[in-house]
Amino acid sequence: MTKKEPDTLVTIFSSTQAWEARLAQAALESAGIDAFVEDENLAQANWLYAGAIGGVKVRVRAEDEARAEELLAEVRRAHQHTRRCPACGSEDIRRGKLPALLLVGSYLLLGVPLLFLAPRYQCRQCGHAWKEGEGEGSKEE
Ligand SMILES: [Zn+2]
Repeated sequence: MTKKEPDTLVTIFSSTQAWEARLAQAALESAGIDAFVEDENLAQANWLYAGAIGGVKVRVRAEDEARAEELLAEVRRAHQHTRRCPACGSEDIRRGKLPALLLVGSYLLLGVPLLFLAPRYQCRQCGHAWKEGEGEGSKEE
């Protein structure tokens, strides 16, 4: 590789799932940060190989690193907010069919989460089922 590198790129995110890398890239680019996905084809050709090469990587310019990290942390917080059963407080819950990806995606595309498509959750401990935003006590922005 003797490619000329005008900017130093740093890996900001990696995943064995190409869609996760694409989601991270979309989030970064929607915030005006140039993001580059690497090794996506390799990872798609063979997911075992994806693990071996460290997954699909998202890289940004070194100068954007701090901003990009902050942004991804934000996306992650929204995405992986720890949920508890409103009935018994257990964290052992499972999510219904609707993928969080759709919620995040709608947020990125439209600027607002599709709350009416809020995912459903069910508690594995007591069987209580509820919808996103219902009886969770705190609601995130
Ligand atoms: Zn419960």
